[in-house]
Amino acid sequence: MPASRLRSPAVAATLMDGKALAGKVRADVAREVEALGRPVGLATVLVGEDEASALYVRRKQEACAEVGIEPIHYELPAETSEADLLGLVADLNADVRVTGILVQLPLPGHMDEGRVIRAIAPIKDVDGFHPMSAGHLLQGEPTFVAATPAGIMEILRAYEIALEGARAVVVGRSNIVGKPMALLLLAENATVTVCHSRTRDLGDVVRAADVIVAAVGRAGMVTRDMVQEGATVIDVGINRVDGKVVGDVAEDVAEVAGHLTPVPGGVGPMTIASLLRNTVRAAQYQAGRLAFPGG
Ligand code: NDP
Repeated sequence: MPASRLRSPAVAATLMDGKALAGKVRADVAREVEALGRPVGLATVLVGEDEASALYVRRKQEACAEVGIEPIHYELPAETSEADLLGLVADLNADVRVTGILVQLPLPGHMDEGRVIRAIAPIKDVDGFHPMSAGHLLQGEPTFVAATPAGIMEILRAYEIALEGARAVVVGRSNIVGKPMALLLLAENATVTVCHSRTRDLGDVVRAADVIVAAVGRAGMVTRDMVQEGATVIDVGINRVDGKVVGDVAEDVAEVAGHLTPVPGGVGPMTIASLLRNTVRAAQYQAGRLAFPGG
């Protein structure tokens, strides 16, 4: 991956270009879809009118269309009952046109997200949120890995960031980012610490890290003084501040970090690219080209 440097002389970090890398992944996926020789379809389900969710879903549909995956979109009103949503998921499970199913989170408050995710057939769980997918990852036999941490691992590999024996700190412990991220780093033999809202002395813990993954959702929460010189910093956060999208990492961290993912243009594009990878993998499982460990 060519290293792009920020211009200011005060800035040392190599920016890790998730957008460029995502372009390569999309090209790979397009080739795999073609090689498969059968239709691949991703069903996206959006419930309610959350603007950010609608935007994410639109980006995913556009990305699908670009690589030859058919986007199959469902939009349901916020007041849809959970039973009706479960009915739609059951239909999608049975629909041969649908290779992968993505129910955009968050769901409206009257729905049990866990129940909806568990209703998705594990062989179509391209988001990797089903407990069976999470269990496979835990046991070191991944089927579908959640797209954000999967994309981050690909960025770390592309920039040849050494993980074996490295001290990695993941800030955030959600089921969709923090926890799977910690497992993936552990599988690469990093020594992993997971931080959360009750962590004491967060700064001291983060300062010891060679690799930092910030996945909290709070602008600027990883500050310059928390980052060891030369550390690799992955900024997952998406925060809107004064109409601008910023991450969880303060701007001046670029002066001390060795490598850094920008926001936007870092983790986000690779999240979508990994979703496409998972969708073509689902098609390979369903076509019997790959053995699905879930049976
Ligand atoms: P969640 O809200 O589910 O999790 C946030 C985590 O941050 C929790 O584990 C919480 O701890 C922890 N946390 C909150 N406050 C602190 C604190 N002061 N110190 C340390 N930890 C804290 O968020 P997600 O994991 O879903 O997403 C995190 C961020 O990443 C968001 O900004 C989201 O928009 C973004 N995101 C970006 C993606 C992309 O493609 N770029 C994809 C997915 C998410 P506790 O568990 O104790 O509450």
